[in-house]
Amino acid sequence: MISERLLKISAEAEEALAPIYKRIDEISYNNTARVLEIFKEHRVSDSMFSGTTGYGYDDIGRDTLDKVYADAFGAESAFVRHTIPNGTTALSIGLFGLLRPNDVMLSVTNEPYDTLCEVIGLKGANGDGSLADFGVKYDQVNFKNEEIDFEGIENKLNEYGDKLKVVFIQRSKGYLNRPTLTIDQIGKICDFVHARSQAYVVVDNCYGEFCEEREPCHVGADMMIGSLIKNPGGGIAESGGYIAGTKRAVKLASYRLTSVGTGCEVGASLGQNRNLFKGFFLAPHVVSQALKTAHFAAFVLERLGFDVSPKYNEYRSDIIQTVKLGYADGLIKFCQGIQASSPVDSYVTPMPWAMPGYQDEVIMAAGAFTQGSSIELSCDGPVRPPYTAFFQGSLTYESGKLAILSAADRLIKE
Ligand SMILES: *Cc1c(COP(=O)(O)O)cnc(C)c1O
Repeated sequence: MISERLLKISAEAEEALAPIYKRIDEISYNNTARVLEIFKEHRVSDSMFSGTTGYGYDDIGRDTLDKVYADAFGAESAFVRHTIPNGTTALSIGLFGLLRPNDVMLSVTNEPYDTLCEVIGLKGANGDGSLADFGVKYDQVNFKNEEIDFEGIENKLNEYGDKLKVVFIQRSKGYLNRPTLTIDQIGKICDFVHARSQAYVVVDNCYGEFCEEREPCHVGADMMIGSLIKNPGGGIAESGGYIAGTKRAVKLASYRLTSVGTGCEVGASLGQNRNLFKGFFLAPHVVSQALKTAHFAAFVLERLGFDVSPKYNEYRSDIIQTVKLGYADGLIKFCQGIQASSPVDSYVTPMPWAMPGYQDEVIMAAGAFTQGSSIELSCDGPVRPPYTAFFQGSLTYESGKLAILSAADRLIKE
């Protein structure tokens, strides 16, 4: 039973959030209209869902899905593959596709996502095959007072000149306490870099898709990359990743996806096309449900005295909500509360563990139909101060609301 106090806060939340929910509905409507129009233009049909085996030559469904993604994301070209196991691999394919020995990769949004640090070889060459092992140098410009440091970027552009091959932007905060970039901000960085350098601007777009009405390639990014068990899979895709961007950049990435020369010509879809189309069709709506859940959670948890980011009335460009629990047990209890109101594995108690690719122990609540899916309501956080829970997703607003209320109830009963 949810306590009276919490039910009252819940009602207040929905009243305060009504205008924000209305705006989210508009974004979802406009994105759905864009996606639907593109499905029609490309004559998506049942014959595209059957899929191919073996080499996967002439897979019309796969090839059409690539075009649908490219068009919806404002890109010249794209590939979408269920065989890409996660976002990190998609990012790795993109970076290895573009970077050559002695090139420089410059992150302009602090340190990238934990798992990507190993791909880059942030701690230096160690023989495991990271970018550093192949002689790719890495440098970074940090946020300055929570803003993009354009002066810092300019200095690095001057310092590295033609050696600078990739300017890297992570749109979402990921596991860091830093702001998420809006599409406008990403556009400003793209313009700034393109006016001064030949470098590719590459955006880690994980968790950002369909939160706004434009995507990074609409505002000048040369490449954007994401995971299908997050936003664009719409909760239907069972695995996968995508890369979209300029023709040249996507071609180079496709040569890493398969082999130089074959690129996107091969790759059997093995019956997955239907799920990927269906998920992409649903994605704008599902993202809207996740966004509403995040706003709702922000309101409720702030009212209970926790420091949340973003605030309930702040503009969003990703689906992540953070709450600082302040102590390890709070983080663990909160994640366990989310798990307990999940549709799958509700009886399981998540515990912190040393997850491959992450530097601290991580606790994860994931009662999802698809393993690790974080467009479904999921909650996780590295067990390190200030014990911040990062949560995201929800296939429906109703189930998200129920889970937040039940997790919050556990916290106040502590
Ligand atoms: C999820 C995510 C990734 C990729 O993580 P995977 O677990 O490999 O899918 C990369 N960057 C950001 C910002 C993310 O949120």
